[in-house]
Parts: sequence; structure tokens; C-alpha cells
Amino acid sequence: MSPTRQHLEITGLVQGVGFRPFCHRLAQRFALSGWVLNHGGGVSIEIQGRRIDDFISALKSELPPLARIDSIEQKDVPPEVNESEFLIRESLQSAVTAAIPPDSSVCPDCLRELFDPASRYYRYPFLNCTQCGPRYTVTRALPYDRANTSMAAFKLCPACQAEYDDPTNRRFHAQPTACPSCGPRLSMSADEIVHRLRDGEILAIKGLGGFHLVCDARNHDAVARLRIRKQREAKPFAVMAANLASLETLVELDDPTRALLESPQRPIVLAKQRSGAKLSPAIAPGLDSFGVVLPYTPLHYLIFNAAVGNPDGTEWLQETNDLALVMTSANPGGEPLVIGNDEARERLGSIADTLVDHDRDIVCRCDDSVLRITAGKARFIRRARSYVPEAIKLPHEIPSVLAVGGHLKNTICVTRGDRAYLSQHIGSLDNRATYAFFEEIVQHLLDTLQVKPAIVAHDLHPDFFSTRYAQELGLKQRLPTMAVQHHHAHLGAVAAEHGVTEAAIGLALDGFGLGENNESWGGELMLFDGAEYQRLGHLAPMKQPGADRAAREPWRMAAAVYDRLGRGEEIERRFPQTDTALLRQMLSKNLNCPATSSAGRLFDAAAGLLGVKAVSDYEGQAAMMLEGLTETPETMTHGWRIEDNRLDLLPLLERLIDCDPVTGANLFHGTLIAALTDWIEQTAEETKIKTVLLGGGCFLNQVLSSGLMNELTAKGYTVKLSQQAPCNDGGLSLGQAWIAGLRRR
Ligand code: ZN
Ligand code: ZN
Ligand code: FE
Repeated sequence: MSPTRQHLEITGLVQGVGFRPFCHRLAQRFALSGWVLNHGGGVSIEIQGRRIDDFISALKSELPPLARIDSIEQKDVPPEVNESEFLIRESLQSAVTAAIPPDSSVCPDCLRELFDPASRYYRYPFLNCTQCGPRYTVTRALPYDRANTSMAAFKLCPACQAEYDDPTNRRFHAQPTACPSCGPRLSMSADEIVHRLRDGEILAIKGLGGFHLVCDARNHDAVARLRIRKQREAKPFAVMAANLASLETLVELDDPTRALLESPQRPIVLAKQRSGAKLSPAIAPGLDSFGVVLPYTPLHYLIFNAAVGNPDGTEWLQETNDLALVMTSANPGGEPLVIGNDEARERLGSIADTLVDHDRDIVCRCDDSVLRITAGKARFIRRARSYVPEAIKLPHEIPSVLAVGGHLKNTICVTRGDRAYLSQHIGSLDNRATYAFFEEIVQHLLDTLQVKPAIVAHDLHPDFFSTRYAQELGLKQRLPTMAVQHHHAHLGAVAAEHGVTEAAIGLALDGFGLGENNESWGGELMLFDGAEYQRLGHLAPMKQPGADRAAREPWRMAAAVYDRLGRGEEIERRFPQTDTALLRQMLSKNLNCPATSSAGRLFDAAAGLLGVKAVSDYEGQAAMMLEGLTETPETMTHGWRIEDNRLDLLPLLERLIDCDPVTGANLFHGTLIAALTDWIEQTAEETKIKTVLLGGGCFLNQVLSSGLMNELTAKGYTVKLSQQAPCNDGGLSLGQAWIAGLRRR
């Protein structure tokens, strides 16, 4: 009987992740001949022998941790006569179009070698393999080859070269591989780093995607000093600990949070502080939650190892380690993360006592990713390191679009076929350095994807830097441009990733987006129909006394509530601010009091009325504090009115005036959830639509999202909320791209 032969076409995350050596090992195990080959669309395999089925099932079940198969196409082909081996063939030139893989945390095998005195990688802070290490952050251009990475500066030594060339080795074609004799060097030993941290110093340490500012999280003096020097008065810092056991002494963790923390992407995950945790109170002033993260580079592990006296082996990794580190992005003044050694000396010199750098260049700046488990699923707050540049699959192909996002928490998005490539978090576009980073990322994404966009999508707001950039680019390159309304785009992002192609009810809740007729929107009920939308309803407009200032000063929104209730004379007694008298005049004469339907301002009003926060230190702070106070949401009957599809929560707001903060927070969240459910049900009855999309930054609020999703799901609705992109403005460009692509089709 002649052997059978099959040809397989595989797509997914199958390049730069050790997929070909994996195929080679399986072919040997099942005594198959044939070959494997990388090309532009994925990987081709031919296999010949008796155990082809075993090969394919092992291919699926034993996949390397970083690899992912999206599809396998299988067909019988005529057998080859004189074939005895399985070969890894030279990549086809078209492999250029294949993507750069994302960075990944140090893998278990490398971690073992790191602390194994017999390994040639023993205590080497830059070891990596096909299963782990830097990727996106060290790659200048495609193809993803060592020559195109910042590792090109380091010539492989004979031992490393031999491993690199050996298809059975874990380091076969591991582009950034390096060892102590041929690779990059760190400027300071882990022992010295720990010594300085214990002494209360602030260190700037070069990481994977940029520098971190690091100090001992238990040393209040050091953390407070870092706050002052970084001029970051209140935003919470992330904390790194050696393992889950150590983190658990600091925060409460549930199973999905634990799994996410330990995933190869090692993101920062939000968790609730444990009462009695011995941490500086300056970590997260006024909040019950902050971000925690596990070590993800060999250097992080070396630091925690040094903290317990440098034991060899990996047993120490299971034990509780008392070192807890503040790990915050080194991005002084809201400018992009510092990545260069000289730049670090210049920009971080006045913040850090000591600089720890190395000679492997960071090519592509990438912040840590931040997620949170909400309604049982991991959801992004910030999407960057270890997730970018992985594509998000669209429901179907659209023309190539470049979408430039909004103003705050900007990201950009480029589509190719049915894939959307969302950039890493770029930041708020309000300084020159961030503009430059934005322009760099636009170029980098278009270059590496080799896409010439058919259209450039932007926000409806004419004054955003991103909008002006899009229009200039359109003029220069004779490309059509298209404005996409902000909340339509928020809902578009949800529809795009969840494959919703039918009409749906969309609820967008956020801080601010420009609506039609130059209105300020942010609490919108829409009929979402892909390329088009219809505004069905909105939150009852509130006056925003002092315009933009009201977005930073919740007491102003609270004062507007008093005014609306006809209780303006109580404002001065209630809010003893320097400009209260002026504000009352503005309200009574309706001067500089633009109306807004923003849900963010509604949260601010509630926080102001409850005395939770009069003036915010950063965007969203008052709402976050209000969420943190909530114990059990409670519903106030008759707490809202719906007239002409306008949802008005004035009765609830009036009630809050006489509540203590915790009761008020419970009532606010519970009543808001019940009111939104009521609103959506009425709309569903009219439209006969049972699919609901939730979008906008307010849905980062866990109490609100879980509560609303549970209510609606229990009533038989299909409810979708972002998972692969942030629900805040960080996901806006994805929605813009999808909508512009649909309109262009
Ligand atoms: Zn590894
Ligand atoms: Zn070497
Ligand atoms: Fe928004």
C-alpha cells in the first residue's frame, strides 16, 4: 500500500512562535516525511505517511503556548516517491506580509535556565527563545528577521548560532536570542538594584517597551517622593510582586484575575486592595483598587530572586516574597514613555535617583497593557505591550482604512482584508511629543502592514489634532477622508469585534463626544446599523457651568443640579469654593453653560452631590471613587423619568443631596442600571431588536457593566461589550475604521 500525502494550509498566529520546529518534532514522532514552509498568508505543510491523522490532532492539541490556529485547509495530494525526511524549507519572499508577533513574558523553560547554574544562560537578563521574549518592541521592519531588529547589532556567538540553526532546538530561528558572551548587557547587577530599592531610592529601569520608574511599594517615603517628582498627584500606581502568593497578601484575587495575571502576556490587572495590606497609602489615594502585575522579563525575576538572597533553582518562585515594587511608566508630563538611554538621562534625571539601562535598543515604544475582569471576561483599559500588533478579526473584508482615533487615550487603526490592526496606546494628543509618537505609529503600521489606505477616517470634532492630521494627509495624498460620529464609532468598535452585522440597539455612555449640530453628547441611545445610525434618545441635557472646567470640577455639575431643581440659593452654603458666587451668576443668566447629554458628567454630578470629590485630579477620578464606594446597588423607585425617549435621572439626583456617600453610591448605581434597562426595554419593544451594544468609557465601571449586562441578559437580550479593544476612546479608531470601511464598500 502506498503512503498517503496531504497538503495543509494553516492560518493564525503561526510565525515567529516556534511553529515550524514544532511541526518538525511531530513529523518525527509520527514517522512522517514532507516539509513545512512560511509564506505571506501563514504556513503550508505537506506530510506523507500512515499517521497523518495523529499528526493533525497533535498539531491542534499540543500547540506551542504563543501559537494560535485560526483555520486548517486539508487536501489529498499525490505521494512523493523518494522522500524520507521532514524538512523546514526556506521561507517564500511573500512572507514579508506576515505580521510581527507581540512580545511575550519569559517562558517556563527559559525561567528554569535562568536559575540553573549548569545552563549557559545562568542569570543572564536577556535570555529568550521562540516561546518568549521581545518581538514587536525590537522590530524595525518586516520581514521579522534578526537583521530587522535591534538585535542586529549583536553578532551571534558559535554556540548561539548552532542553536539558531538547529530545527530541533527551542531557539531555532529565535530572532532575538542572545547569551552572556554575545548579547546585550545590563548596567547594574540585580543585587545592587535591590540594595538601592531597599534603601528607598527611586530607580528608572529600562524594560521591554520603555523605562519604568520603580521604588519599594512598602516604603511610604519613597512612594510619596515619586508622586511629587513625577507630579502625578493621585493616579494609582501599579504594583509588581514575585508571584500570586505574594500578590494575594496585597489584593483580593478571583480565578479569572489570577489566570489573566499569569497569562504569557502578563498584563497589569486591576484588583481590590486587601484591608491591612502593608503598602504605602500613596499607591492609590482614595481608591479601593489598583493595578497589579507579575514579573515578565528575566530582569524582573532576577530582582525578586536577589531580594530573597539569590537561591538557585525555581523553588523560591513558589514562596511568598516580601518585595513589592511600584512599577509605573516613565512618561513625565503626560508625554510618551521614555525609551532611549540618552533620553532617559535627560528626562528622568530629576525624577529617578538611579538609572538602570542596557544596550538593546527599544525600537517601538509600548506601555504595559491594563485589563480588568468585568462580567466574567477580561476587558482592556489600555491595550499595548504583548497584545499589539495582533489583529482583531472583522466580520468580513472591507477596503483598507486608516482610522486616526480621537483626542484622549488615542490609538490608531489600520485594516487589511478582514483584519483590523489597532495600535498600542499612544496617549492624549495634547503635546508635541505625543503628536510625534502618533505620526511615527501611523507610518510604522502602514509600513509594516504594507497597506495603502483607500480612505482615512477621523472623529467629527474639527479641532482634534487627529482630525486635522487626517485631513492634511487626505489632501497631500489625494485620499478621501470621512468623519465618523464619536458614539457611533464607540458602538462600531463593539459590533466589529463581536461580528454583529445586523441592526442593534446601541447605548454609548462616556465623557464627551461631538454630536450633530455642534452638540456635546455622551449618553446616547442609538439604532446602530453598521454604516449608519439613528439617535433614538439621550440623557436629559445638563448645564455644564464653565464648559470644560466642569469636566474637572464635579462640584460644578452638582451646583447645576441644584439650579435645575430651583434650589440655586443653597449652592453657596453647600459648595464653599472661591468662585461659587460667579458660578451662580453663570447658572442664573445661562452664560458659559453649554448643555451636555454626557453620562460622565452625570457621574460627576452624583459624586459632587455626595461630597465624594469636589475637584478631580484626573479624568474619571470622581466616577472611579464613586464606584469604589458601592457595596450593593439599590434601586430608587420613581428615581427616573423617560419622556420622548429622553432619560432623566433628576429625582435620583435630588435624593442624593441628603444621602451619605455609601448609601448614595449604592442608590446611584442601582437606579442607573434599572433606568437604563427600562429605557432599553421600551426601545426594544418599538424596534423589535433584541441585540444591545454597550460602548464608551463609562463601561469601565464594573458595577455598571456587570449590573446592566446581568439585567439585560436575564430578560433575554444578547448584550455585547468590548473585549479585544478598550471600551473607552482607546477603541474609537477600531469603530471608525469599521464604519468607514462599510460606507466605502
Ligand atoms: Zn523562552
Ligand atoms: Zn551567544
Ligand atoms: Fe468617548
